[in-house]
Amino acid sequence: MQTVYTERHHLHTTDRVLLEGHPFTVEEVPARAEAILTAVQSAAWTAVIPPTDHGLDPILAVHDAEFVHFLRTVYAESALRWGEGPVFPWTFATRHTGRKPRSLAGLAGYYAFGFGSPILVGTWEAAYWSAQSALTAADLVQAGASVAYALCRPPGHHAAADLYGGFCYLNNAAIAARALQAGARGCRVAILDVDYHHGNGTQAIFYADPTVIYCSLHAHPDEDYPYYWGEADERGVGAGEGSNWNWPLPRSTDDAGYLAALDEALAVIRAFAPRFLVVSVGFDIMTGDEVGCFDVTAAGLEEIGRRVAALEIATVVVQEGGYVLERLGEYAVTFLRPLAERE
Ligand SMILES: [Zn+2]
Repeated sequence: MQTVYTERHHLHTTDRVLLEGHPFTVEEVPARAEAILTAVQSAAWTAVIPPTDHGLDPILAVHDAEFVHFLRTVYAESALRWGEGPVFPWTFATRHTGRKPRSLAGLAGYYAFGFGSPILVGTWEAAYWSAQSALTAADLVQAGASVAYALCRPPGHHAAADLYGGFCYLNNAAIAARALQAGARGCRVAILDVDYHHGNGTQAIFYADPTVIYCSLHAHPDEDYPYYWGEADERGVGAGEGSNWNWPLPRSTDDAGYLAALDEALAVIRAFAPRFLVVSVGFDIMTGDEVGCFDVTAAGLEEIGRRVAALEIATVVVQEGGYVLERLGEYAVTFLRPLAERE
């Protein structure tokens, strides 16, 4: 099994963010990817390779062109106008008229749905290469690999076509799914999201699309982020009606509760009979995670990996969240090993 990784994620230097001169905590830090890299490097069953550059086209197959232009240019424009420093929105276009603002400050709050995702000098380049890592993993699976792992950072599942937030700027899993379809004449793709949080961005991108089903297990929106999406009755719209599946779960969900919901999701995926599977994996489902509130154990995580592997569908695994630095490497190896052994 190959792992796709690039050190360019360090350009998104979220461990030293200042907000008006004061330290601003972002849990999503470079050390996360490094912890996972160290663990996969010492596993005999995976080799680490760099991403290849697919350009902007596969990103624009998912994201709005003006949104991408904003992400590419907003730091430099903000630095010219107000000096160097992270770009934070100060207002949000909540319940707005739908009119797109012209000002830089207005656009920041139009394209962001939350506060915790600063745009730094290297954020665009890091997000671009994170997406390229997912695309390279998709290439490997398309070329016949049974599984490939994109060690993406920043993560992606909260980013929609023209919305960023939740530490996510470009939706790596969605970009991989669209690339898999483009390479195989619009074949069916399933996305399984086993991050602690609902992947509101992925849901939004495929909400009207019957060719991609989205199945997500996550904290109930009444109890946790991202609060406004993730209810079980969000089932898709138009031609996509019935292709969106949410399993909102209570806090403290343990192995048994999680695996029961997972089995339902896997049954939906089996019935859909997709050509490819994309897994958004987040280790913030693990007990003791500082952001998540589930109680999944290492044995439970291994079983999740085993049951996903048992689908026997060619799989791109995309890294999303997970915040306990000391355990992330162990978790990645535990989840990935059953998939690697299948190969
Ligand atoms: Zn998460």
